[in-house]
Amino acid sequence: MASTFPIRALRWLRRHRAGRIVCTRPAHVFCPGGAISFTFDDFPRSALTAGGAILEKYGCRGTYYTALNLAGTRDVLGPMFEPGDICAAHQQGHEIACHTFRHVNCARAGVREIAADIADNEAALAALIPGYAPVNFAYPYGELSLRAKRALAPRFWSCRGISEGLNFGMVDLAELRVARIHASDYNAGAFRLLVDRAVDAGGWLIFYTHDVADAPSPFGCTPEQLEEIVSYAAVRASVLPVCDVVARLGLAEAAPASSAHRQQDARM
Ligand SMILES: [Zn+2]
Repeated sequence: MASTFPIRALRWLRRHRAGRIVCTRPAHVFCPGGAISFTFDDFPRSALTAGGAILEKYGCRGTYYTALNLAGTRDVLGPMFEPGDICAAHQQGHEIACHTFRHVNCARAGVREIAADIADNEAALAALIPGYAPVNFAYPYGELSLRAKRALAPRFWSCRGISEGLNFGMVDLAELRVARIHASDYNAGAFRLLVDRAVDAGGWLIFYTHDVADAPSPFGCTPEQLEEIVSYAAVRASVLPVCDVVARLGLAEAAPASSAHRQQDARM
């Protein structure tokens, strides 16, 4: 048994690396003046009560990649969203986007398991917001395999990972790049430079974090840190949810038309 472990590990590593290298959904991104998105993974309550409030203060909206099975739970990120928070965020104009339902790791699960888990997530979401179907997805843990990426690329307008970078020129819509906002390595000057770079290049910069709290988890940030970035970004570029950027780029056609129309109807 022990002798098979290195072989299995190497196979997993090969799949994992291939998923990172192979572009499955090439698209050209050019956003004159720059586009900035603020995204929150898993949806801790503080991401809406503190994070959403900061975005709204500057007239902006964010994207919440939500794993519905985490509703009402509590973990290292603090209290997670309650079902009513999903409806409130949606009514406030934020985008509710898709994660997996049980926070399944897409690098380890098979394609059928991932698809079933996402279907559960979509069903739970539609039960809260009738007729709503999410059109953007983020890989839990940022983990993916080439098979998962190929399966999800045509299903959503975009899929977001956690590899760092600016989305500009030819990008892979099946693994959008990000800049993470974590309190432990927070650097206001570096973030301002990233925003400036997006503005100058006409790029799309996607920030991501989790909780927004005075004593944040290792995966979150403080309200002061988030506000410092939002306030800077809001005067330099267009701050938009992921769905709005993809739509403005004219790249929304890959998702099921019914989903796109349902979402637009629900947002009005
Ligand atoms: Zn997650």
